[in-house]
Amino acid sequence: MVRVVLTLAALSLLTASGAGSAERAATPGRFRVQVGACIIEAPPAARDQLDGLAARAAEFLPRLEASIGAPPAGPYRIILIPPGRSDDPEITALDRSAPPWAAGFVQPRRRVGGIRVARAEHYPYSDLASVLLHEAVHMLLFDAAGGNLPRWFEEGVATGFERDWGLRDVLVQSSSLLTGRLPALADLDAAFDASDTRARAAYAASFDFMSWTVRRHGEGVVRDIARAAGRRPFPEAWKEATGATLAQSEAEWRRGSLLLYRWIPALTGSTVLWGGITVLALAAGARRRARSRAIRARFEAEERREADARGEAGTGGHGEAAGAQPAAGARDLVFFVDRYATGTPPWDIGRPQPEFVRLAAEGAIRGSVLDAGCGTGENALHIAGLGHEVWGIDGAPLAIEKAQARARERGIAATFLIGNALTLATLDRMFDTAIDSGLFHVFPDDDRERYVQGLAAVLNPGGRCFMLCFSEHEPGTDGPRRVTQDEIRAAFRDGWRVDSIRAARFETNREIGAARAWLAAITRLEEPITPAGRGVPGGRGVTA
Ligand code: SAH
Repeated sequence: MVRVVLTLAALSLLTASGAGSAERAATPGRFRVQVGACIIEAPPAARDQLDGLAARAAEFLPRLEASIGAPPAGPYRIILIPPGRSDDPEITALDRSAPPWAAGFVQPRRRVGGIRVARAEHYPYSDLASVLLHEAVHMLLFDAAGGNLPRWFEEGVATGFERDWGLRDVLVQSSSLLTGRLPALADLDAAFDASDTRARAAYAASFDFMSWTVRRHGEGVVRDIARAAGRRPFPEAWKEATGATLAQSEAEWRRGSLLLYRWIPALTGSTVLWGGITVLALAAGARRRARSRAIRARFEAEERREADARGEAGTGGHGEAAGAQPAAGARDLVFFVDRYATGTPPWDIGRPQPEFVRLAAEGAIRGSVLDAGCGTGENALHIAGLGHEVWGIDGAPLAIEKAQARARERGIAATFLIGNALTLATLDRMFDTAIDSGLFHVFPDDDRERYVQGLAAVLNPGGRCFMLCFSEHEPGTDGPRRVTQDEIRAAFRDGWRVDSIRAARFETNREIGAARAWLAAITRLEEPITPAGRGVPGGRGVTA
């Protein structure tokens, strides 16, 4: 009964406000739309988004409230935060209250939340509506359970509503299979506010566990747990609603997720390994994931060996304890593995980057060519089509599979390998030219050095490297890091000559079109690199 009344109230409010049309808010300088208990506010800079968002909210909020099974305790406000500085003090304060990478957040006790318009397209969201949905779930679950639920429960439920409970999360699968472990539930809550990468993995794991729970116990389990948690501590509420302790549920989820792949690392010989993996291909999706895991293990071992050789203690390089996290290069690859598995990434334009077509036409590409981070291989294939011997390497198995398939379809001879660009020396062969289309700019500072050393190890003296990376003139912060000319020169200071760096375009398949980029031409000098001089002022080998 209460439920019906509330839904009707929501509908009538919506009608009263012109079915989702923005009106001026009581707060000067803001517009607002009310959808049931949810009041969405926006300053003029985000006004355009308001009506569309309200229309979407009117579809999903009633459904959400019904599933959670408890009415909102009262109205709550979600404020859209446009990018840039704001002269609205509440918006500024709200924006400051959450970590900079967060797309949305809610302070349930104050019944207010914010959505950062510019970040709404980041994982695990896809648009403003999905961020709003997440925040509404937090608010409703807070009202149902009085703040008694762990964050992973809420994030998992939110992601489940947004997607489909039946899905498995490719990100948690790739990361857990690559690292050999699923994150522990107990560690998740701390991870949401950590680095972007860890937070992504935490979202993915929360969703994966909750979707496993819903598949196991039915969709009503969310409502049952939330209700019970309003009366008793969360672990007891879990037991009451599911009949199992949280630890039992977690263990069962873990077993189910890893069972298929666990034996893979035990196989050593590569023929046996790939043979074993082919068997696994019978299980849908297993092949890719198992390969990712094997590859990641290999990358980590290689990076550890290299670090040992350099006498470094850990391999993480990001302030994390050695062993607790995979090596940085391998860890960041999870992002790429995920991107290729979940659609066409923005850089995957289905044709070579015009800058490399031009370089090839000018005759700048000589001899044998290495394409580091080749993605789905369009640049490599273009160059191979001109008669060069080309090797493309990439850490994302799906990208390499696509590149190989394209080479076959087009009858072009090129070698595509799954490999780690941070350990190029392990390729154990030399090239006359290296191309880098959008790889350098993905690396954190400490990996740049390692990458450039690897390039030096596989380029013949006099060989050239052509690199296309996002420049600092590309506005906004979406996408890869912006790189300055000085940073390029610094990375290639020892044993290289930077011949030219010129303004260029990096084509994407997004509406933004081409991004501003630098195209650098860099020659590998005859002089050997002096590893002892790395990063030591005055101890450099050769200065460009
Ligand atoms: N060169 C391609 C892809 C650019 S995107 C193009 O122009 O379309 C960057 C690519 O680098 C991705 O395909 C990603 O999988 C790959 N990559 C990122 N880190 C890597 C690493 N450590 N080793 C190998 N490849 C890596």
